[in-house]
Amino acid sequence: MNEIIDVAVPVGIRKTFAYSVPPELRDRIAPGMRVLVPFGRKLLTGYVTGTGRPLPPGDFKLRPVRELLDPEPAVAPSLVEAALWVARHYFAPPGEVFRALFPVGTQVAGARRYSLAPRTATLLDGGFRPPGLRPQEDAVLDLLAGGAPQTLRELADRAGVRGTHAAVDALVAAGWVRAEMSLEAPRVKSKEQLGLRLLDAGADLLASLTPVQRRLVDALGGGREPVPLQEALRGAGCSVSIAKTLERKGVVEIAPAKIQRVPVDLAATTRSVALELTPAQREVFDRILERMRGGAPARCLVHGVTGSGKTEIYLRLIAEAVKRGETAMLLVPEIGLTPMLSRLVVSRFPGQVSLLHSGMSAGERHDQWNRIRDGESRVVVGTRSAVFAPLDDVRLIVIDEEQDASYKQDEAPCYHAREVAWQRMRRAGGVLVLGSATPCIETYHAATREEGGIYFHLPERIEARPMPRVTLVDMSAEFRQQGKNAVISTTLRDELEGCMRRGEQAMVLLNRRGYARTLLCRGCGHVFACPDCSVSMTYHQQENRLECHYCGQEREVPSVCLNCGGPYIHYAGVGTEQLEGILRTLLPGARIARLDRDTARRRGTLRSVLFGFAARELDILVGTQILAKGHDFPDVTLVGVLAADAGLSFPDFRSAERTFQLLTQVAGRAGRGSAPGRVVIQSFHPDHYALHFAQKQDYRGFYDKEVEYRKLMQYPPFSSLIQIVVSDPDEIRAQRDAEKIAGALKARSGRADGKAKARVLGPAAAPLEKLRGQYRRQILLKAGSAEDVVPLLEDCFADLDRRKITSKVHVDVDPLSLL
Ligand code: ADP
Ligand code: ZN
Repeated sequence: MNEIIDVAVPVGIRKTFAYSVPPELRDRIAPGMRVLVPFGRKLLTGYVTGTGRPLPPGDFKLRPVRELLDPEPAVAPSLVEAALWVARHYFAPPGEVFRALFPVGTQVAGARRYSLAPRTATLLDGGFRPPGLRPQEDAVLDLLAGGAPQTLRELADRAGVRGTHAAVDALVAAGWVRAEMSLEAPRVKSKEQLGLRLLDAGADLLASLTPVQRRLVDALGGGREPVPLQEALRGAGCSVSIAKTLERKGVVEIAPAKIQRVPVDLAATTRSVALELTPAQREVFDRILERMRGGAPARCLVHGVTGSGKTEIYLRLIAEAVKRGETAMLLVPEIGLTPMLSRLVVSRFPGQVSLLHSGMSAGERHDQWNRIRDGESRVVVGTRSAVFAPLDDVRLIVIDEEQDASYKQDEAPCYHAREVAWQRMRRAGGVLVLGSATPCIETYHAATREEGGIYFHLPERIEARPMPRVTLVDMSAEFRQQGKNAVISTTLRDELEGCMRRGEQAMVLLNRRGYARTLLCRGCGHVFACPDCSVSMTYHQQENRLECHYCGQEREVPSVCLNCGGPYIHYAGVGTEQLEGILRTLLPGARIARLDRDTARRRGTLRSVLFGFAARELDILVGTQILAKGHDFPDVTLVGVLAADAGLSFPDFRSAERTFQLLTQVAGRAGRGSAPGRVVIQSFHPDHYALHFAQKQDYRGFYDKEVEYRKLMQYPPFSSLIQIVVSDPDEIRAQRDAEKIAGALKARSGRADGKAKARVLGPAAAPLEKLRGQYRRQILLKAGSAEDVVPLLEDCFADLDRRKITSKVHVDVDPLSLL
């Protein structure tokens, strides 16, 4: 059949579009292929999501597919289905989801360009004009005279008057102007260079070669793939004339060779061997392997304390998948922060790993993606978006640190990699392994309630190394002793000094970058807030400027208060930049480096600091939550945490969970080697349960308490949340549009039996009321499950499109943060 297909077109509309298929393409077209389709006045790359529909009876006009861009499906059917699930579940435009499946910059697009018809050009050249034109039409002809073809946008911009659209259409209809579609090549393509390819030369011919010719043949490695010419010549130490001679003899041919742009961590070639699993590790490994062999989808949680050896289990499971001829994927929060882990995987599976993460160049990503699609790599290591990697036969996806917020995309499509991975495994009959020392409350809740051995607990560290001893320091007591400028408590100072004396390493975490949180006028109480966001600006001493951490804008530092003109400006709230200086004064001689987004901005700094610390060229790392991420430095024996309760004041129901996770994770960096670890946590609320359970490293205790509160408040996992943020530079318009949406939702949320499908809360000012100059109103939907409410949203938004909502509307299903 295939007379009509469904195509996802990346235009921000929440539906797929039907196109007709020219007869010659009907038996070739399939879901997962890219097609060139007309959309409005443009040609765009679309993605085939469904085929097989016959032409409906009657006079039915559909626009035809212009071109088929892939000879074979670029992504497997199971991935197409998973992507459609993402669009449905997250209420996202299918075209945007499918675009995310492909490397950036590879879309073909085209635009209609206009030029004078030949007879018009002749007329104009002769000093005549077509008769009876309106002024706008005349103006368009003048713009086109003697120039290159132009798009409608270009013409409209240059004409500077309204009605250009209509004028151009009229000129085309009258035949004075010609319209042509022209395609633009994708921005990112394969890179090629001259290469040498070995031909099947006879033994006699090979025997007749001179030694230098022989060397060049050897440098080609015996394969039949072209090798870059320069590389081969360097390898053989000869000049290009030797290559030419060999070509004349028919031993090689000169052919284009693809250059692989290789990300730095893949190029690293250390070797590492598998460790002998401990009995605890083996138990988990065996039981997950059983699942993999069973072939039914399974979602497992490996809940192992920090240092319990989860990584080794992942690596062994991946090895099993590869051994069975399948492929596997390992997702990590941020590869840049854990370069050691990707190197470890690369070293275990040499030549079989591809990397996909945002720290790579577009070219590198393009090449890695193509390698994966062509079946050249068996293992993919990547961050969030790698969950869409076109691996065939993927039967194992491991998500390390599954609680990490970076797995959730905060712009459309707002997917969570964990759920996408699960949709892929459900369809492929594979196993999803979630690993964490502090699983997300929802994950733990689901895993421990379901039957069937999918929850695995590793309560002890490798070799029964002790968990670190954690001390909570009450900073209000400390202030009474040391005075109000105390930053480092006596306890932490003593520990740091002891640690340095013993030649061990330490980490100090403060989750606030910059020098001071804000400038405050002591004369009038004025706070230096961002003009476009409802937050204060952070002072950065090194650059001597104020920066808004939400929108990034910078301001000069005023010498007097902008409000009262007084000179009493105070730097309030210590940040990592200031802390680094304080530690340098406190511990002269200690080698200290800082890790936060400011230092990580310089390319390579992150990597060099992490490797420097691993090589013991540094004694202390100061930094933000970057420090808490999965690092394994065996010589770190002390971890200090400042302002541990800073996150608790966030108006978000997950703030306790996040604080507990951060503290437990960072504490877990201490004492991973043979020497035991200590942790000092400073706070003003040492009695808060998040801190209390973090001190005891008692996940279950925290979970029980937290789940009570979630249940009482009907928060996830006891409900599904959907956040709708309506934003507009005009506060009144934002409020009005938010009211329209909330009203429409409320009107539809009832059910026949009188119960509500969803509770509609708001509109109210969003916790971050103003961002980048936009006023933000928030509506929250609480429902039994997201599946219940998506039809409600669809219905409501279909209607709202007709009601002229001009504000920006952002819908986040299962939001991770409610700012
Ligand atoms: P986790 O990811 O659970 O925090 P890791 O996988 O980083 O823990 O393991 C902690 C440390 O224990 C690492 O240094 C690792 O090399 C080591 N390790 C893991 N498994 C074994 C094993 N079976 N035998 C010896 N050492 C191991
Ligand atoms: Zn701002």
